[in-house]
Amino acid sequence: MTKKYKSRKASFWDFGLLKGCACAMKQASSNETAKARILIVEDEEKIARFVELELLHEGYLVEKAFDGRNGLDLALNGHFDLLLLDVLLPGLNGFELLRRLRKTSSLPVIMLTAKDGVMDTVAGLDMGADDYMTKPFSIEELLARIRLVLRKSQKNSDKEELNYGPLHMDLARHRVSFQLNSESAQSDAEQDIELSSREFDLLRVFMENAELLLTRDQLLEKVWDTDFMGESNVVDVYVRYLRQKIDQVFSVKLIHTVRGLGYTLRLENQHDG
Ligand code: CA
Repeated sequence: MTKKYKSRKASFWDFGLLKGCACAMKQASSNETAKARILIVEDEEKIARFVELELLHEGYLVEKAFDGRNGLDLALNGHFDLLLLDVLLPGLNGFELLRRLRKTSSLPVIMLTAKDGVMDTVAGLDMGADDYMTKPFSIEELLARIRLVLRKSQKNSDKEELNYGPLHMDLARHRVSFQLNSESAQSDAEQDIELSSREFDLLRVFMENAELLLTRDQLLEKVWDTDFMGESNVVDVYVRYLRQKIDQVFSVKLIHTVRGLGYTLRLENQHDG
């Protein structure tokens, strides 16, 4: 049974022929797939159901939403590992959902774009989708992409250290150090930087998003509880603390203000401002 299931080449659109497919009756398979949680946002319920059955068969946990607004709510609050996102949706289309999601979330997203939707594909990737599938697609290919995207994001979250310029962050030991690169002193010397846990979290977000603009709201979301929403000056206060411990101690300016927008961690070689 399994063999037959694995070998077929089902297109998304001929699932009607597969109604009797064994997958619907089987329990989640016992392969090594971890129980990743996948959210399907797709307004065509039959398609959503079909994909759901296939994913359940592979051992994933699955939830579905049939419109953009519910989809966004779930994506933001449901602790998923991956989002399968259709483009044409009632309520909020897939691009708008993705745009809003990316303000605060790095949840991996695979867009399901229409045939010939090359521009859609480009737009989706530009807006932060991790991958895309053009309809109609084979379920095997979708499963392969899902595994790939999940593996990639797993790898990122398993990181034990972060490095940017002279900064080194050991996540397991909760330690930060600065590489002293003075010609006079012995090279490769490091100096530890003592940070409070909030300062550490803030610097971590900067290092994970090095050279990207981070708005105050994004920093609030990522580092503070939502209780702090609207009090974005707490971000400025902690950025000042970080600067006192990094920029003002060492000769390199790393935390830059982007006027009116937010902050960015960036190494500037030419002119320190
Ligand atoms: Ca649709």
